[in-house]
Amino acid sequence: MEIFISDIPDEGLHLEGEFPAAIFDLPPDDLIRPMGPVRYSADIYAFDEVIVLNGWLRGPFQLQCATCLEFFDFDADFPDWSSEVDLEPGQKIINLRDIIREDFLLGLPPNPRCDDYDAGRVCPKAHFVADPDEVDEIDPPESDGPNVWGVLDDLK
Ligand SMILES: [Zn+2]
Repeated sequence: MEIFISDIPDEGLHLEGEFPAAIFDLPPDDLIRPMGPVRYSADIYAFDEVIVLNGWLRGPFQLQCATCLEFFDFDADFPDWSSEVDLEPGQKIINLRDIIREDFLLGLPPNPRCDDYDAGRVCPKAHFVADPDEVDEIDPPESDGPNVWGVLDDLK
């Protein structure tokens, strides 16, 4: 969707609409699966060397959990979206579709874990991955603590 920069008035250009999931054009085995049209609301301002966009972006995705590798639903919602596009000398148009596509892909969480985004879910592989916060709290056994060995003996 091309916008002529000369068409952007000083007070800004307001656009709302949606783009089909097909704009993402990702390979079938990608970690990101767009699941439907993405919607946008944009106020677009033109300056001498930069185009500034403010608004919001929303769209349904499935992301692959970095821990269990299962795909889970993720509703992208960027309520305070803003973007700046540097203009090349002589550039006359910007492509809103490409800008929004890129900002969705940049805004999605990297290495997500499924149960961080689905309150009712427990990642099936969570117990295989040590939580760094918990590891820090486990003190190494005292090397000269006879009680430790006594406890181990009791377990045999
Ligand atoms: Zn998971």
